[in-house]
Amino acid sequence: MPDLPPWLSASLSDLIGSYRANTLPHALLIVGDPGHGGTLLTDALVAKLLCRADLPEACGDCKACRLHRSGNHPDFVRVQPEGKSLTIRVDAIRAINRKVAETAQQGGNKVIRLEQAEKMNMNAANALLKVLEEPSDGTFILLESSSLGRTLPTIRSRCRLVTLRQPTTSEALAVLVRANYALEPATALGIAQGKPYAALAVTQEQIEQWSECERRFLHPAGFSQLSQFIHKSSLDATLRQLMLWVDTAVRRQFRQHGKAVPVTDELIDVLMKQPAQSLFDFRDYIVEQLGSINRQSNLNAQLMGEALAARWLDLRGTQ
Ligand SMILES: [Zn+2]
Repeated sequence: MPDLPPWLSASLSDLIGSYRANTLPHALLIVGDPGHGGTLLTDALVAKLLCRADLPEACGDCKACRLHRSGNHPDFVRVQPEGKSLTIRVDAIRAINRKVAETAQQGGNKVIRLEQAEKMNMNAANALLKVLEEPSDGTFILLESSSLGRTLPTIRSRCRLVTLRQPTTSEALAVLVRANYALEPATALGIAQGKPYAALAVTQEQIEQWSECERRFLHPAGFSQLSQFIHKSSLDATLRQLMLWVDTAVRRQFRQHGKAVPVTDELIDVLMKQPAQSLFDFRDYIVEQLGSINRQSNLNAQLMGEALAARWLDLRGTQ
């Protein structure tokens, strides 16, 4: 399969093997982050399900493949979140239900691809349940989600779960090298939390911000300068960068040499001098703050920045 990264190819082979053995369930819930390349697996599976040639992968050449490539295959429906709120609404699901009831125009399978399935509102999910419960022959419904936890249990229980493997650091770096990513690949991966396809979009400005953050925290010029710096930066990105430092320091304290991460040894040395318990407490604090940002509950970015600066200086014993 062209361009399918190695950590996804085993999952695709399993799915295509099931399909060719007539044991592929009609509804799949494919869970993986787009930044890890999960959508590439769905691309390849959709192409295979639509192709009319009996080959281990889509031939790319039959009429169905050509129709699909030009975005005009009549038996393929793609649904994405819409509107300001990025929601999948019931109208989109009704269109799916109509398609499922029709006869396939090209005589092959009908394929429905529902992206970010966790964005379905309750009405949409209820409308989809019926079609998930009463499958029609030759119809495959592929739901994609980056978060199993946010997908409704009623939907989850009616689909075969496909959990995609994540790349190792060297596999992820290989994606950036192959794509001729011109900046610092290891730093870009750190910024993108190890997700190679997200790392490809990391800019020079983000890399400079990453180094600047490290400098400011390694040699803090006092509470107010540090809290001002945090306030001007993305709090979410700063917290994630700090978490990477703490995790790296903890791993080294316990003599676990994990993956290479973009952090200077000087900073890790500073953290390794702290008792393990202090690092764990600080990590808990970061997780809690990231949770608040995620829930967007009563955020006061300035206060949060000041609290973070104080916690950091306290951890280093320099307050
Ligand atoms: Zn084909």
